Amino acid sequence: MEKIIVSACLLGDKCRYDGHSNYVPLIKELKEKYEIIVICPEVNGGLSIPRTSSEIKGDRVINQKGKDVTKYFNKGVDYVLQVVKYFNIKKAVLKEKSPSCGVHNIYDGNFNNKVIEGQGWLTRKLKTLGVEVYNENEIEDLLNK
Ligand code: SF4
Repeated sequence: MEKIIVSACLLGDKCRYDGHSNYVPLIKELKEKYEIIVICPEVNGGLSIPRTSSEIKGDRVINQKGKDVTKYFNKGVDYVLQVVKYFNIKKAVLKEKSPSCGVHNIYDGNFNNKVIEGQGWLTRKLKTLGVEVYNENEIEDLLNK
């Protein structure tokens, strides 16, 4: 069975910054077609649950208290990239709008709830490796492939 990486919060893990999950029922069907490898780049990078929310601002990641948390995001990306390379992963399903996992959209970096076109810290790197990245609303497309 092909292996795929999936954002932990979509599977129901309460690893979001606020200690909640983003469970998506369609994940059950994904499990029938793929072997799922669970990742949460922010926690993998050493950030806690709960944690202060972060947004990408230019070439840095800044949390809502103004602290530069780029090093944690980089560490999380490095961890996931090791997993991707080790298992030769070609596909990912990630949580839209997250500063790590956003696929088509992220927040604008000003903590004003404004969404812009852009990719999360991890998604950017995965794309450079040629990994196909889907968001939670595109799982059906992936299942129908
Ligand atoms: Fe979910 Fe990704 Fe945020 Fe972790 S970093 S809580 S997997 S969106």
